[in-house]
Amino acid sequence: MSEESNSRVAIVTGGSRGIGRAIALELARTGYYVIINYRSNDQAAADTLDQIKAQGGSGEIMKFDVADSAEAERALDDIMKRFAAIDALVNNAGIAADNLFLMMPEADWDAVIATTLKGFYNMTKPVLKKMLRQKKGSVVSIASVAGMIGNKGQANYSAAKAGLIGASRSVASEIAKKGIRVNVVAPGLIETDMIKDAPVELIKNIIPMGRIGKPEEVAKVVRFLCSDDASYITGQVISVNGGMI
Ligand code: NDP
Repeated sequence: MSEESNSRVAIVTGGSRGIGRAIALELARTGYYVIINYRSNDQAAADTLDQIKAQGGSGEIMKFDVADSAEAERALDDIMKRFAAIDALVNNAGIAADNLFLMMPEADWDAVIATTLKGFYNMTKPVLKKMLRQKKGSVVSIASVAGMIGNKGQANYSAAKAGLIGASRSVASEIAKKGIRVNVVAPGLIETDMIKDAPVELIKNIIPMGRIGKPEEVAKVVRFLCSDDASYITGQVISVNGGMI
């Protein structure tokens, strides 16, 4: 896409599968040119782009690890050169490596925190600089109900997601007067690869709506927060969890 294009541009990290794919499709459906970031699964990323094109949208795939400062910088330099504006950044990439805290290897603690929090830093800082020059833009980060109430076996994941909420609220207040909004969406249990080993039938009992959520149900909230319809919303955490808290 050339800089002259009128399309809005969105970056979706971890946009190749699960919730990120649904977000990429939803943003593309509403007219964004979507840059789909992913780390390893080339086929899933290509499939997502194909699905965007099949629904008449446009975008591209970009493989890099959001937690790797050098890789992220290289990718963002390229994006900044090619696009006059970045309208939306969705920090969705995330991993889980569950274990009871006393059994948790240091590497699993570090990897989960790095993907979420280093990822937020590596992506959001350069994009915000561009948004400041544009005097507009929206950043939405995907946390979790676990970051709000904690969850047995997820100390690393809960810490990362709670940190994401704190960072987002802080940044939101720092730049609120500049026309840029920063918000968080906190999903409950959503049907993706991430929960394939979770005891879903048991967990359903603690979800007031009695069912698991769909990626599209998260994506629609993200699309709303990216849009001008959410023009007076910043520094907020919106839960999409079937009534869990
Ligand atoms: P999936 O495991 O289905 O997909 C994860 C995505 O993130 C993939 O596209 C993956 O790419 C990408 N990714 C992972 N690590 C990196 C990295 N270091 N750099 C770039 N991309 C990366 O996860 P979900 O769709 O379920 O989750 C999406 C987000 O929503 C996560 O932040 C998760 O914590 C959060 N969430 C999910 C919930 C759920 O129940 N599913 C509940 C609450 C929050 P690749 O395949 O190439 O590795």
